[in-house]
Amino acid sequence: MALHRSRFFPLALRRGFFIELSGAQLGEQTDLFDGALKAAKGSLKGLVFFDSNNRHRGRLSKKFSGAWPRKTHKYLGHRGFWQVSPVVHVLGIETSCDETGVALIRAQPGPGGGQAGPRATGEILAQALHSQVALHAAYGGVVPELASRDHIQKLAGLVERVMSEAGVDWAALDAIAFTEGPGLAGALLVGASLAQGLAAAVNKPVIGVHHLEGHLLSPLLDPAAGDIKFPFLALLVSGGHTQIMRVDGLGRYALLGETIDDAAGEAFDKSAQLLGLGYPGGPEIARWSTSGRADRFDLPRPLMRRPTLDFSFAGLKTAVLTHVQKLRSSLALDDQARADMAAAVQAAIVDVLTGKCRKAMRDTEIHQLVIAGGVGANQALRQAFAEFSRQDQCQVLFAPPHLCTDNGVMIAWAAALRVLAGQPPSRASGFSVRPRWPLTELPLV
Ligand code: ADP
Ligand code: MG
Repeated sequence: MALHRSRFFPLALRRGFFIELSGAQLGEQTDLFDGALKAAKGSLKGLVFFDSNNRHRGRLSKKFSGAWPRKTHKYLGHRGFWQVSPVVHVLGIETSCDETGVALIRAQPGPGGGQAGPRATGEILAQALHSQVALHAAYGGVVPELASRDHIQKLAGLVERVMSEAGVDWAALDAIAFTEGPGLAGALLVGASLAQGLAAAVNKPVIGVHHLEGHLLSPLLDPAAGDIKFPFLALLVSGGHTQIMRVDGLGRYALLGETIDDAAGEAFDKSAQLLGLGYPGGPEIARWSTSGRADRFDLPRPLMRRPTLDFSFAGLKTAVLTHVQKLRSSLALDDQARADMAAAVQAAIVDVLTGKCRKAMRDTEIHQLVIAGGVGANQALRQAFAEFSRQDQCQVLFAPPHLCTDNGVMIAWAAALRVLAGQPPSRASGFSVRPRWPLTELPLV
């Protein structure tokens, strides 16, 4: 934003960085200055101004007391100039399902300018993750009550560890972020209540983050994401979701296609269960696949040839069940058969996911795709997409494997992007969680 008037020449450069070059009569003619402060919506972090005759300090404080930057106003007397540090520190807490994740990240707008979003860069100062996989393994899936109790036991310790490893003082935090939804209500409440409690105690803003937005934006933490621009496509493939989205900005997500029954991660998990391979199934199927031949069993690629961008994986599970029953009855379900079936399942899922993404790119003519969610950790999927991006000359970006499944980093990062983009901070106040929360109903920034 650049403002200009005949006598005054105020200029706001980059978000939250505001330079005023004026006739130094701020006491009398302050509307542009006032307007710029309002436009910055309280996201200014520092204020240093040139004041050659020391006249304005009192007037400014009186006039703008409501609109001052929330944290600092540095007054440098007669030698100053504006200096704003847009760096933000955000603590992120994830407890939506079966991982207790905490992380502290530092983020700043990218070198390209004040437009936050994909061009912002982030650095993980510390992170801690406790997986409940062993706790739920005996049940073949997540038991909500056990999940909540375990989050309660682990979360505070992980927060303390992250804060001390990062060596960042509570006072230096810009926000405390937590997963507000979607997820298991009891599990979400643990993260929400700790975040709100901490925020109230240290007087910091809180930000409730949408779990899927966290997944979706996590690939942008990679420095290689620097040149990804809105709009881009996103494939979200996790235990509970399989969606293709068009991302036009933070909070601006249009759903292009999604699963009409099972999610891709669920297809991995259920197939693994049918084959007796353990939980969670995705990594097990991937491991067994390495010694299997994918072409021994013919598995369906549901909806693959249809014009829709929707997915269906329930038929795949039924086909696996039928094969397994046949193998069992002929006493042929040995380790080789398991490996071959695992390879066939993985190949079918990879084919469907790459096929639909290719179609989405052709339909939308958007040639940038980010892939997030637990299934994104799958090596065969990553290889197939690498091949695909070479052939179709498009850019495909994955989150690093350890950030594909649930973690605190993605929550801190999504919140930091929103803070950098100017989302007004909110103070701790009671707490709410949203176990069901469509991604298309997120606040825009
Ligand atoms: P959710 O939040 O919906 O539980 P996550 O993002 O935590 O999902 O991802 C968990 C899912 O990812 C599980 O279904 C798991 O089987 C799958 N998964 C994890 N690693 C792999 C892998 N290497 N290959 C395939 N699927 C995987
Ligand atoms: Mg999970």
